[in-house]
Amino acid sequence: MSDYSLDTLCVQGGYECHDGEPRVLPIYQSTTFKYDTSDEMGKLFDLEREGYFYTRLQNPTNDWVAKKICQLEGGVAAMLTSSGQAANFFAVFNIAGAGDHIIISSALYGGTFNLLTATVERMGIETTVVDPEISEDELNSLIKPNTKCIVAESISNPSLVILDFDKFVKVAHNNGIPVIVDNTFPTPVNCRPFDFGVDIVTHSTTKYMDGHAVAVGGAIVDSGNFDWDAHADKFPGLTTPDETYHGITYTKKFGKGAYITKATAQLMRDLGSIQSPQNAFLLNLGLETLHLRMKRHCDNALALAKYLKSNDKVAWVNYPGLEGDKYYERAKKYMPNGTCGVLTFGIKGGRDASIKFMDNLKLIAIVTHVADARSCVLHPASHTHRQMSDEQLLAAGVQPDLIRFSVGIEDPKDLIADIEQALNN
Ligand SMILES: *Cc1c(COP(=O)(O)O)cnc(C)c1O
Repeated sequence: MSDYSLDTLCVQGGYECHDGEPRVLPIYQSTTFKYDTSDEMGKLFDLEREGYFYTRLQNPTNDWVAKKICQLEGGVAAMLTSSGQAANFFAVFNIAGAGDHIIISSALYGGTFNLLTATVERMGIETTVVDPEISEDELNSLIKPNTKCIVAESISNPSLVILDFDKFVKVAHNNGIPVIVDNTFPTPVNCRPFDFGVDIVTHSTTKYMDGHAVAVGGAIVDSGNFDWDAHADKFPGLTTPDETYHGITYTKKFGKGAYITKATAQLMRDLGSIQSPQNAFLLNLGLETLHLRMKRHCDNALALAKYLKSNDKVAWVNYPGLEGDKYYERAKKYMPNGTCGVLTFGIKGGRDASIKFMDNLKLIAIVTHVADARSCVLHPASHTHRQMSDEQLLAAGVQPDLIRFSVGIEDPKDLIADIEQALNN
């Protein structure tokens, strides 16, 4: 199946049916799975035999959807999680613990930023935050003997920074550590981080992958390329026996599947952030049209970015797919077929003019969501960052007039007409 093109994998990847079986991915709405003998069940607990026994560990519906996402990213193993937050937490916590250090890009989704600074700090993990445009030498100088990974987003939410993959991958690999990239915004349709040397990819499947705003979820995919054994002293959790599994060593027993097996067997077992099979089914429906939707999101966002740029009531527009954008050239290099459907812009007149404009919109809704079929806007200064003064907003990299516009897949003429009437009202 992996030999098919990405468009075919979106539709038919993951689930495979045999003679007389359901054509459509079935929902295994069962927490438990039956075995004939106690011995067979015992082997599952020892990871001696593959199979299902309890949905907190694994469920066939979830595994098929994880397999599709794995094929789309070109990885070797993948798992679903209950949310994007859980995916990013598991991805890091699987290889970093108390006493360790991680490096993160400052251009991250706010929830991930809180998680990987304040929350992991309480678990004893120290974090260094770097500007994504940091020089190679400076980044290199920040790596310590206990640094376990570098985390960044391929297109950051909401600042729309396109990651300089080559720089981060080179510094990380020169120091024997992996790069984890959250690929939520471009999706594998527009960007495949493993092609640029990234080791682990995460997703909030809540966004474009689901695409209809019906199911919160996440995913982790392993490229299988990072050689944990070559840096065994840094990653003892993968390269030395796990006493909670009778002394299994993940890299020895599972080879390229080591990282995802450990995340399932330890983290999912103990922390239990599973995706419900119902949500995995809905996610799979979304994935079946991901290639069609991403193209339309990008076409619409470009049309809207051009329109906004030409409107004299608009102060500025950021869209990495727009010629002249700060990240246009880098976007062409890493995601030549398109970026995503999200753009940001400001209206002349600042914070108050932006609020008035948003209240005037009719078709485009004000919602705390991004990256689904319906167009929507969010004004960080009056929503997610509303406690901050204009000065504090600027220090956090959020202009007071910044409107995040998630361009949907409607007819762009209707979206432009809605903006036009809202600006003139
Ligand atoms: C939304 C988002 C997350 C968090 O995902 P949830 O599914 O809401 O937990 C993580 N990363 C990015 C880039 C996001 O946009």
